[in-house]
Amino acid sequence: MSAYRAVLIPGDGIGPEVIGAARRVIAATGVAVEWEEVEVGGTALGKHGDPLPGAALERIRECGVALKGPVATPVGKGFPSVNVALRRGLGLYANLRPVRSIPGVPSRYRDVDLVVIRENTEGLYVGIEREPRPGVVEAVRRITAAASLRIARFAFAYAARNGRRSVTVVHKANILKRSDGLFLDCARRVAAGYPGVEYRERIVDAACQDLVLDPSRHDVLLCPNLYGDIISDLAAGLVGGLGLVPAANLGDGVAVFEAVHGSAPDIAGRGIANPTALILAGAMLLAHLGEAEAGRALEAAVARVYREGRCLTPDVGGSSTTREFAEAVIAALGDT
Ligand code: ATP
Repeated sequence: MSAYRAVLIPGDGIGPEVIGAARRVIAATGVAVEWEEVEVGGTALGKHGDPLPGAALERIRECGVALKGPVATPVGKGFPSVNVALRRGLGLYANLRPVRSIPGVPSRYRDVDLVVIRENTEGLYVGIEREPRPGVVEAVRRITAAASLRIARFAFAYAARNGRRSVTVVHKANILKRSDGLFLDCARRVAAGYPGVEYRERIVDAACQDLVLDPSRHDVLLCPNLYGDIISDLAAGLVGGLGLVPAANLGDGVAVFEAVHGSAPDIAGRGIANPTALILAGAMLLAHLGEAEAGRALEAAVARVYREGRCLTPDVGGSSTTREFAEAVIAALGDT
């Protein structure tokens, strides 16, 4: 069988380390993937003077599938977020973040099984800030019916297809009556077409409390952009941390798989980053390519390494390296 083609973006900070691990374990599943490496982020900025060269975007669009390492974004200054520009440039309107407990990982809860679906193209991430007069800064938060309906349709179709029991829309329409009101209204319209999926609404602050007290109160969480970002990090914390949660950014004919975490400059280059999130993103990529069985085998191999508790990285209480963890996953794949 001929190899699948996919783009590989090493990214910044711990990106190259965790991408390297994910690439090795994907190869060990036996699914042949021919990777085309594309530079985005700090390396691209250094070489081409642009953190997101047009040619990189074009390569991803043409190929249709990418596995992406985290890309750093300067805080409070510097170039705009590459992650945001990439999502917008490729029309990756849906951000899908399944958050599941992995037995063996020290965490507050067992049996967490949540899915965060985040609108990926607008909200506060339109990045428009203006200073009408010195000392006053305003940020634009754009919500459109078109994008809200699109993400609601995605969420309900996902819930129905995957046998999920409910979709909870996370909002702040008590304060943001018109913008979050529109988001809610669009979700209600779509929900009406899915009588088999329970429709619920929860104000964002209350939703955070629910999740901390008892994550089983929710199932699929449908969120505008910023709430989705915050809720997914919170949910990652419930299952043991950012090193564990994968994400898919999906658009029409293009899909970019990545980790929820960032470039973690504090541990970059030390070989101790946890590659689990990117390995699980790799499993999602395999399923997307039509290799669901290989994806499941990869998830099972990761679960086995955690269950046995050997070869874990420091963030989850172990003392192994990124490479040792990846080798353990490869060995577990061989045993299944
Ligand atoms: P960025 O600016 O790229 O978002 P950041 O450091 O602000 O980077 P994260 O990269 O998400 O944000 O990291 C937050 C914390 O979680 C850091 O202390 C980091 O060390 C830890 N962390 C994130 N990802 C991992 C990982 N894969 N393995 C171990 N620790 C991680």
